[in-house]
Amino acid sequence: MKCRAMQALHLLALEPIAETTADLNSYGFRPERSTADAGEQCFIVLAKKVHAEWVLEADIQGCFDQISHDWMLAHVPTDKAVLKKWLKAGFVYQNELFPTEAGAPQGGIISPVLANMTLDGLEARLAEKFPQARRAGLKMNMVRYADDFIITGNSKEWLERNVKPAVVEFLAERGLVLSPEKTKVTRIGKGFDFLGWNIRKYNGKLLMKPSKANVKAHLDKIREVIKANKAAKQANLIRLLNPVLRGWANYHSHVVAKETFTRVDARVWSMLWRWAVRRHPNKGARWVKEKYFKTRGTRNWVFTAIEKQEDGTKRELTLLQESDTPIQRHVKIRADANPHDPEWEPYFESRWGKKMLNSSRGRVKLYRVWLRQDGLCSDCQEPIAMGTHWDVRHIVKRTEGGSDSASNLELHHPTCRRNR
Ligand SMILES: [Zn+2]
Repeated sequence: MKCRAMQALHLLALEPIAETTADLNSYGFRPERSTADAGEQCFIVLAKKVHAEWVLEADIQGCFDQISHDWMLAHVPTDKAVLKKWLKAGFVYQNELFPTEAGAPQGGIISPVLANMTLDGLEARLAEKFPQARRAGLKMNMVRYADDFIITGNSKEWLERNVKPAVVEFLAERGLVLSPEKTKVTRIGKGFDFLGWNIRKYNGKLLMKPSKANVKAHLDKIREVIKANKAAKQANLIRLLNPVLRGWANYHSHVVAKETFTRVDARVWSMLWRWAVRRHPNKGARWVKEKYFKTRGTRNWVFTAIEKQEDGTKRELTLLQESDTPIQRHVKIRADANPHDPEWEPYFESRWGKKMLNSSRGRVKLYRVWLRQDGLCSDCQEPIAMGTHWDVRHIVKRTEGGSDSASNLELHHPTCRRNR
């Protein structure tokens, strides 16, 4: 526990540095950045006709546990003596102590930042090695999420003979190697998988869809939940499945996923039908349908449980349909935006306000703040109503440790702020 607390403390100091020195197109394990940003960046550098035709998919062998200790000790700007203790502590498995010769601390909360700091600089290194890359039409762009990254280029040969060796050299300095089987150069017309998506051009049109492997893993998980709950109450099964369905659908809600969602819904339906039938071997199909599936609106087969509450009232629980998820293009974060830099505060607040409006929980929170302010702007005390522009901001700035709770938020007109 002490070690964990120490790591948290050092992380407080290290993260703002990491945010300042990070590669512009690194999106993993960083505040305010997400896979959706990485996906959108892929779209930005690959979608157009003039964009690169080829993609180097890089896979670093056992990245986290292979990083050279010497490299980290020499380059990570933190207390060297403490870092050395963490790196060399070893780990205990089944009462046996195993030494650690390489790698970031197992399960340590500081490890993702250590790994990011180890890989940061690759983008700059490539720009330095190939200064002509943009002008000569080589179309080089890197997109990285933690240790998973792609580099685009206009020819297979150039990526293989020039770019790949530069990456290998950069990684070797840090004790890392590319996996020979998993690292490959692919034509965009053939497509590649990245972060759970398949990214591919169909007759010149770039589409990002949930990847086959990702869909399969999702269905496997659902099947497991259903299998483990053969005798569970229907309401409880719905309670277990809905977060799985919702989380996955949200993850893919920025890409071309409507068809996949419909397909997943159909597969889930057939798993649930089998689940229901098996519970009542002596009943007919009609009886089973009436017990577990209800007609709701225009839908006939809605997996619905009606539950009696303690006070005698009835409550309805319905299985979520992934195909109801709205598909919305994600707005990518500005590459140089730094959440630790007060100069970027207005940018993050307005981005954050929009994000809150996109989720029902966020809207509830904003509504609470609005009620607390009696519907008035915190600056001019004039009403904020339907159709008025408004913004949300933190009372204690996040760069100063302010939280995201409703009590630390206030709503105001964007222009009042400028007037002050
Ligand atoms: Zn105002």
